[in-house]
Amino acid sequence: MQPKAIVVGSGIAGLASALRLAKKNFEVQVFESSPHAGGKIHSFSNTGFRFDFGPSLFTMPHLVDELFELFDIDPKSKFEYVKKDVICNYFWDDGTRFSAPADEEKFIEQAAATFFN
Ligand SMILES: Cc1cc2nc3c(=O)[nH]c(=O)nc-3n(C[C@H](O)[C@H](O)[C@H](O)COP(=O)(O)OP(=O)(O)OC[C@H]3O[C@@H](n4cnc5c(N)ncnc54)[C@H](O)[C@@H]3O)c2cc1C
Repeated sequence: MQPKAIVVGSGIAGLASALRLAKKNFEVQVFESSPHAGGKIHSFSNTGFRFDFGPSLFTMPHLVDELFELFDIDPKSKFEYVKKDVICNYFWDDGTRFSAPADEEKFIEQAAATFFN
């Protein structure tokens, strides 16, 4: 008999769990209380413009790629992204500025130089 699973919430965590369970041959039902899927990741349109909510920087896109790959779908056909050298610029009232590099080694070096000198 096919095992059954229910997932409460269709945010990225719920959707990822549901997909992984389905891949393991569970019959999955996802319950969502709001009118849209995606949880904090969603958007709205107004006067012809689309406004995105939720993550402004994606630190582990390979985990999303992995969900498509589980079902033999090329992630690039559904989810486009570009790796930036600098992922975020931070500014503080005291004049401190920090440009966060995507590269882990550079991040550690520059964070140490900025915050521990
Ligand atoms: C403005 C903003 C910027 C962000 N920036 C980043 C970023 O740069 N990088 C990053 O990694 N993250 C960022 N985040 C955080 C990221 O968006 C969230 O961590 C992630 O989307 C949370 O996913 P989740 O599935 O855990 O929860 P949620 O997205 O909150 O999903 C939970 C879902 O469960 C539903 N639900 C709850 N209770 C019930 C119930 N009883 N019955 C049915 N449904 C229920 C809710 O309606 C919702 O759809 C940001 C978030 C916001 C809002």
